[in-house]
Amino acid sequence: MTSNEVTTQEAPKLKVLWGNQSLWAYAVPVVNQTQRWQALLAVDPISSAGSRSLKVLDASAKVLASTSLTVMATSFQTQAIRVSKQTAGLSPQAGEMEAIASLKALKTAKRYWDFPLQFNAPVPQCMNSPFGVKRVVNGVFTGNIHKGIDQKSPQGQLIKAPESGKVQLARAFRLHGGTVGLDHGQGLTSIYIHMSQISVNEGDIVVKGQAIGKVGSTGFAAGPHLHWGAFVQGVSVDPLHLTPFITPCG
Ligand SMILES: [Zn+2]
Repeated sequence: MTSNEVTTQEAPKLKVLWGNQSLWAYAVPVVNQTQRWQALLAVDPISSAGSRSLKVLDASAKVLASTSLTVMATSFQTQAIRVSKQTAGLSPQAGEMEAIASLKALKTAKRYWDFPLQFNAPVPQCMNSPFGVKRVVNGVFTGNIHKGIDQKSPQGQLIKAPESGKVQLARAFRLHGGTVGLDHGQGLTSIYIHMSQISVNEGDIVVKGQAIGKVGSTGFAAGPHLHWGAFVQGVSVDPLHLTPFITPCG
């Protein structure tokens, strides 16, 4: 984040303490002459249920409001997938996991989306693997949950940015395959993997609906599909919470 990315209206003045996270809150457009502020918060899907404290502080660290929110218990189904032996043996290349971690860690002050926050579908096809399922690969539980959704898209399907943002990642990785990572600002990021073609460069600003590449089956993939994920303050969230435009395959 550079200082010139913070406009007067977006300059943070309020801080939010959420669990063990410390976040800036940002001014939202004034409605009925009332100034409101917002911070995007997320709950880690593998965290335990229970009460979580939420505090709002001013610039001098004075507590303006304090409350707690209850995180409800949930459960995720198991999904078995099969991949070739060669695919199952894929490991990340040097720097791959670090590059993705730095995408998720972004807390850029600039907001690229308009209110209300709502993503388009990056591809028009149905969802054939939901967020959060526990993955059993070739009969072995990986210990990982599915941090994103899969859409049943054909090879070469154009992928369109579901919201405006800055291209943070545009690389061909060994494990994730062709990857584009977008920074939408204020702690919201998204990632698109297994792409056959990437049509943007790191540092580009993309607008909602702009093509960023094509669907493929590169990296750890059993066949052509779009896997994409979204992160709020570095925490993986269900992309369906951001868009009403994707339905499960029948
Ligand atoms: Zn997936």
